[in-house]
Amino acid sequence: MTEPVQPFFRPERTLINAFGIIILTSLFYFFGAMLRLIDELSLFWPLNAVMAGVFARYAFLNRPHYYLLSYAAMLVYDAITTNWGVASLAINLSNMVFIVTFAMLMQRDASQVKGDERPPLNVLKLFLYCLIASALCALVGTLASIGIDKYKLWPLFADWFSEQFSTGVLILPWVLTVRWPRSKTLVSPDMLWPFMAVVASVGASVLIGGAGSLAFPLAALIWCAIRYSLPVTCLVMLITGVAEIVLVGNSTIQFNTAAPLETAQLFSARLGIAIMALCPLMVSTSVASINALMLQVARRANYDYLTGALSRSGLLETLKKPPFADTRYGSLCVMLIDIDYFKRINDSYGHECGDAVLTAFGERAIRAVGTKGLVARMGGEEFVVVCPGVSLKEGLELAEQLRQRIADYPFNWQEKTLSITISIGLSHQDCIEPGVIDAFTRLMPVADRHLYRSKQSGRNQVTSTSDVGLGSGKVISETI
Ligand code: GH3
Ligand code: MG
Ligand code: MG
Repeated sequence: MTEPVQPFFRPERTLINAFGIIILTSLFYFFGAMLRLIDELSLFWPLNAVMAGVFARYAFLNRPHYYLLSYAAMLVYDAITTNWGVASLAINLSNMVFIVTFAMLMQRDASQVKGDERPPLNVLKLFLYCLIASALCALVGTLASIGIDKYKLWPLFADWFSEQFSTGVLILPWVLTVRWPRSKTLVSPDMLWPFMAVVASVGASVLIGGAGSLAFPLAALIWCAIRYSLPVTCLVMLITGVAEIVLVGNSTIQFNTAAPLETAQLFSARLGIAIMALCPLMVSTSVASINALMLQVARRANYDYLTGALSRSGLLETLKKPPFADTRYGSLCVMLIDIDYFKRINDSYGHECGDAVLTAFGERAIRAVGTKGLVARMGGEEFVVVCPGVSLKEGLELAEQLRQRIADYPFNWQEKTLSITISIGLSHQDCIEPGVIDAFTRLMPVADRHLYRSKQSGRNQVTSTSDVGLGSGKVISETI
């Protein structure tokens, strides 16, 4: 298993967090400013969405000093690259309005959710919060930039609002969900088809044009949402949305070939593209929720909730999969374990105490067996330990160790000390052909017979297939 990658922003790293905020702000300010130079309408202003996503994602960054740092970085950038003077204070304030509004709304929601209940992404809320943040930001920005821009109030507001809203809706889902890939699995050529379909449909939008053309990639995007993970779908949606806005912005996708592009058309296109993003994102979050649910159901079925050991079906499932399915292990050791006089614990101290003993026993057994094998609860107070690639001698040593550890260290429950012993029946086979499941099925009844003998001979002992001379009086051996 690979260690999860630590995030860049961490609560204890104040200086590094501050540095990260300044770098990110300056970098995306630079991006936006470059696009502003190309076209006066400033097709994109990614800074606000990126920073809003960062602040929304890391609750501990939502402190006045971190906000101020971001604001200061914007002012410094403006002071160096523009001659806006005092107006820069208000224009950048509009950026901060978007960032702080969105981050605070998301934080408010996050604080109301407990534990792992949080859905991967609440798309409808994200849309609503983008709408509110964009409207407030556009209001402040429009009033602040009237003197600088040549546009009138309404077109300016429309441009500002539609740009913020569309950029927010396209960028934020990705910033909120992006993570390092968990495994280095190679992308199979089959996986590329949905993305190729997106590229082809954007191509068709350019070729055919007209009002409907913006929706052409929708089907391909929904295909992506079904095949790819949520962060990848968000990234494909971002690339597609940006591509469409750029293509509309420079009239490669044309709505009306007879007339030049008007501000109102770009306003409408941006909003349309943003709304279109809703569908694949909704599909993707639904697929992610269903997958998470299925994983949870599979976990519940494969593990015993009381002891943390595998369930009977979980054990069989695990044995069927690599690395356990691999016959190169060569041998298999099966130990059937039963707690002695367990009924008395229930009768004397109650069922709750019995449960606590089972939980503690499961923990101890799992710890004792470690990576040598699998521990499963077969039912009641009966457990099985399956160790592939373990010799009979090693198996007996492990069983004896476990028996001794349980006998030597009593369990505590509500200030009571309970001494417990276990009986073990052990069976072993040198060859696990044709498969581990067959070998396990063959060894189980043998282990059961040996367990019966352990019980018959006075309990608290290990009985095994043959004598390998462990030298402990507690180990009885017999031949199958
Ligand atoms: P022996 O030494 O012969 O194994 O005696 P025993 O009392 O352990 O054997 P028996 O199989 O008669 O008793 C097992 C008891 O385990 C009976 C049942 O009430 C109890 N039991 C089974 N599952 C659970 C459980 O999940 N929680 C609790 N508390 N008790 C359980
Ligand atoms: Mg028992
Ligand atoms: Mg029993």
